[in-house]
Amino acid sequence: MSKEQGSLSINSENIFPIIKKWLYSDHDIFYRELISNGCDAITKLKKLSIMGEFEEADDEKYQINVIVSPENKTIKIIDNGIGMTNDEVKQYINQIAFSGAEAFLAQYKDKTNEEQIIGHFGLGFYSAFMVADKVTIDTLSYKAGSTSVHWESEGGTEFEMAEGDKTTRGTEITLYLNEDSFEFSNEFRAKEVINKYCSFMPVEIYFTNADAPVEEKKEEEKKEDVIDADVDADGKAVDTEDGKDEEKAEDKGPKPLNNPTPLWTKHPNDCTEEEYKEFYRNVFHDFKEPLFWIHLNMDYPFNLKGILYFPKINTEYDSVEGTIKLYNNQVFIADNIKEVIPEFLMLLKGVIDCPDLPLNVSRSALQNDGFVKKISEYITKKVADKLSGMCKVEKESYEKYWDDISPFIKYGCLKDEKFREKMKDFIIFKNLEGKYITLPEYTEANKEKANDKIYYVTDLQQQSQYVNMFKEEGIDALVLTHNIDQPFISQLEQQDDKIHFQRIDADITDTFKENVAEGEEADQLKAETDALTELFRKVLNNDKLEVKVEKLKNENVSSMVTLSEENRRMQDMMKMYNMYGMDPSMFGTNVTLVLNANNKLVQYIFEHKEDDVTIFCEQLYDLALLSHKPLDPEAMTKFINRSNEIMLKMAK
Ligand code: ADP
Ligand code: MG
Repeated sequence: MSKEQGSLSINSENIFPIIKKWLYSDHDIFYRELISNGCDAITKLKKLSIMGEFEEADDEKYQINVIVSPENKTIKIIDNGIGMTNDEVKQYINQIAFSGAEAFLAQYKDKTNEEQIIGHFGLGFYSAFMVADKVTIDTLSYKAGSTSVHWESEGGTEFEMAEGDKTTRGTEITLYLNEDSFEFSNEFRAKEVINKYCSFMPVEIYFTNADAPVEEKKEEEKKEDVIDADVDADGKAVDTEDGKDEEKAEDKGPKPLNNPTPLWTKHPNDCTEEEYKEFYRNVFHDFKEPLFWIHLNMDYPFNLKGILYFPKINTEYDSVEGTIKLYNNQVFIADNIKEVIPEFLMLLKGVIDCPDLPLNVSRSALQNDGFVKKISEYITKKVADKLSGMCKVEKESYEKYWDDISPFIKYGCLKDEKFREKMKDFIIFKNLEGKYITLPEYTEANKEKANDKIYYVTDLQQQSQYVNMFKEEGIDALVLTHNIDQPFISQLEQQDDKIHFQRIDADITDTFKENVAEGEEADQLKAETDALTELFRKVLNNDKLEVKVEKLKNENVSSMVTLSEENRRMQDMMKMYNMYGMDPSMFGTNVTLVLNANNKLVQYIFEHKEDDVTIFCEQLYDLALLSHKPLDPEAMTKFINRSNEIMLKMAK
């Protein structure tokens, strides 16, 4: 073959600056592109072998070798795959790649926004020029009688091609790193990047540091023997079982950096519980065990495999934050791509591998892609099926996990109509006894006394006075303590106008009151209300204060405050949107002070209203507020001082 020279067939001379800008923050991605090209080359050869077009040696061992030289600032990526003939280099490297580049240019030349591109435009190979001044290819095709080819280019639009001296089948890419990219020949950095992108690529990847002293190299290999097979995506070692260690000690020799057969590629029937848990630990570094998982395995109408884990949430205050790692044929693409994965599913932790995804497009295009929508719907359906199935057949586990999974389910219902449709009959609530019931069950059990309301508690301690009254009267309430619950119950109300939620401190309903006869008794109560309203307004210096005197069945209760459901929700909303400093009374959100005419202290105040009863009024009001929400610091100080004063009086 004579030496050839040529100009790369591209209209624009500016392709390299653009490639350099492309995925600017992700220069490390060249490792993924070049190693995945090596995997592709090997996969192709395996296919040819199956088709009988290539005869595999008996001891054929397909692999990719990454050799770094920190001293020479070079990286070699070597595969023993299909290789390329002279014509193929011309076609695939000189032309095809550039037509990909052209498509890329056509789409992006006018775009000033730095929209992220997920895949590539057949530009994978050229990503090498993001980090290298000079790139060479040495390749020998599997085809009988092929001559090897040497290609090189110095990052311009010029290339040189000549007969090479490679004697073994496959392709060797050499990068001569540019000044800004020396880090990638550093062993630690290189392994870090390879672990990030290539942990689960389908061909074994071996790593060598050409500059490590021979002694050290041996030592290192030994160390790696123990650690490497169980190295996770970030290169951290994970516990290995003793038995395994022994096995490893026997079969010396280097270990690959990656795991070419990740768990999701296996059939669910062939995976054990321990394997699922181990995979979870390795990939997500979560020492807490997952609650349960869903293994997705679909061939038709599209290819999709993956494992979704429901993580254990530590406390109800833990923010729920998951990670869904997206792969394309075992090549890592990115975490949490919201265009493909429904938003609420990102609360889970999982891996999804979808070879059919059109990733060589921009994110905004993905968003509008019907196919992507189908994928996303399929995942949603699978998750809903798993959950509803569990509720139907494994009610006990479902209840056991409910506190952990309910924020996720409720969020899903809020965000995704299809998910809500599928899950709506499987939403359960914890009641005051700690049992799990559905809304219809609640309504049925409380239809006599609950006035068509669904009562709920948001804080069992804070609202304990009300909780006790409810228990005494035999009325149940639901415990809704999570942030997500407020928007969730609002949605339930919107969807069914027979549903009304009311927090138990919103009102004192007739159930808790004695029957008051018309006439004298009612008039008496009215008179007390008027008198005590005037008194409390004066003492508390608040002429808007609403006071109601009621005959409560429980005479131990002296005072309570109520705040109507709507007003409280309004206040909560203001808090949520940080609308502090606004006067809540603007919205009529003042509380009502309820005084119990049956209580001895209230009776005392009424009888002595002409005397100085200030201290009693203040104390009763604070006590009532306390059972509704925490006092602000100033009010709390006053309350404590006053309480001390009262005790001192008693001591005298
Ligand atoms: P893509 O992988 O998307 O096709 P690339 O730019 O990564 O785009 O590679 C272009 C083409 O060059 C590949 O399709 C393949 O035909 C050829 N090629 C690249 N690397 C190798 C390799 N290591 N072995 C054999 N062929 C390769
Ligand atoms: Mg490629």
